[in-house]
Amino acid sequence: MPPQSDERPAGAPENLELSSADPGTVTPVSDRPAGGGAAPEPARGSAAPPTGTGGSTAEFLDSILLSKSELFRESREVLRDSYVPARLPHRDTEIRQVAEVLAPALRGDVPSNLLIYGKIGTGKTAVVTQVRQDLQRRGDAAHAKLAFISINCGNVDTAYSLLQTVGNTFARTEADRIPTGWSLDRVQAAMRRSMESHGGTIVLILDEIDRLVARSGDNVLYTLSQINTELDGARLVLVGISNDLKFTNHLDARVRSRLNEEKILFDPYKAPQLQDILADRARVAFREGVVDPGVIELCAAYAQLESGDARRALALLRLAAEMAERDRAKRITRDHVVKAKNRLEKDIIIECCRSLPPHCKVLLYAILQSYERRRTGVLTGEVYDNYKRLAERLGLPPLHARSISNYVSELESLGLIRATIVSRGRGGRTREIQVDVPISETMPALEEDPLLAPLGRPKNRGQTLLTNFDNPARTGPY
Ligand code: ADP
Ligand code: MG
Repeated sequence: MPPQSDERPAGAPENLELSSADPGTVTPVSDRPAGGGAAPEPARGSAAPPTGTGGSTAEFLDSILLSKSELFRESREVLRDSYVPARLPHRDTEIRQVAEVLAPALRGDVPSNLLIYGKIGTGKTAVVTQVRQDLQRRGDAAHAKLAFISINCGNVDTAYSLLQTVGNTFARTEADRIPTGWSLDRVQAAMRRSMESHGGTIVLILDEIDRLVARSGDNVLYTLSQINTELDGARLVLVGISNDLKFTNHLDARVRSRLNEEKILFDPYKAPQLQDILADRARVAFREGVVDPGVIELCAAYAQLESGDARRALALLRLAAEMAERDRAKRITRDHVVKAKNRLEKDIIIECCRSLPPHCKVLLYAILQSYERRRTGVLTGEVYDNYKRLAERLGLPPLHARSISNYVSELESLGLIRATIVSRGRGGRTREIQVDVPISETMPALEEDPLLAPLGRPKNRGQTLLTNFDNPARTGPY
């Protein structure tokens, strides 16, 4: 028997099935009273975001909601990451600092290399993009020989693809382009020729440079940082942007000192700063009077807990608005923000689970299963037995207890579980594991993985949240 809807605890997930209803048949229920008190029923024909963070559902939502929105003005793009706002409140100092380092290029001098670092969502990419645009405009007006290349090293993360992308930026014809399959030396020589043929100052912005180094080491940065010694008519300036504050610790000393010629740290935003950022966007995104008092403050407060991440703050506001639309509400309320926050955390946890190595997934599943059965902390011995049983069922040779113990630590460092050491008399010690994720969401998400699919059970799992998941003070590494 499916659980009765009135047994659903507050904050429990709503029906998450993506409706197969033809979007064209959706009609707004305009006379529904706003803020009706009880948990809203899933609206007929409405669509909820999937358990993942896939953009396709967001686009689907956009397409059915854009037609007639009582909340949004024309476009909800304003709340997306890709939108470049006209001004960046609370980043004047950083904008000036970046501009000061790079401005000599306008006079034909060669700027220092620059490393920008700070936690995710602190406006690094936005600031650099804005300074780049300003400099480019002025450079063009003054006929300065100045070119910018921006590369996101999350996508371009090998030495080959990086040198190839730089080289191909100035390719005039198809024949000038560097193909795949050459030796690295040959690509490097072709890239140098291409830079020479363009000439002038070339500012290479390597965004998320920490990911390049994590994936491919720092040899390519060494190559790039000393390339000026081999160039005559062109000069390369490197601007690295890192989300990892300790990124330079992993670099070869020579690369570090070259990249670090100038360094700018972006501090996390505080709640009042996030409020200003959100208020700016909300003014453009929403119709007048649809954002309840306290909504922006609550988004900002939650995002401050998440390391002052402006991206998180914007995502919360956007999702809160989407929740409001699903409720056919006339206004966005604080309740919508709370719902949005829970939804977002679940999505992030589920993404995190999906990216685990195979045995770690089986282990997590074993932990959740044991925990669900007992509804209390489980000891590592029991978890290991359960893991072994599941692995065998899946046809995987089980790993030794020591490897599994390392995985327990890994799951703990991801914030998915907590393990505390308990003594078991006569000097014996073991770890007791508590679960820090909502079981009713995480197990089905893991079961969607082809590896774990054979373990799946009929839906209809109890909906009880076994954690303090709704506690806003909870902070995790997400
Ligand atoms: P980072 O590169 O540090 O991870 P981003 O520059 O991508 O951060 O910023 C994340 C999101 O927040 C983007 O949508 C960006 O437009 C927005 N944002 C960040 N800082 C500001 C700011 N000061 N004013 C307005 N929007 C901002
Ligand atoms: Mg960035």
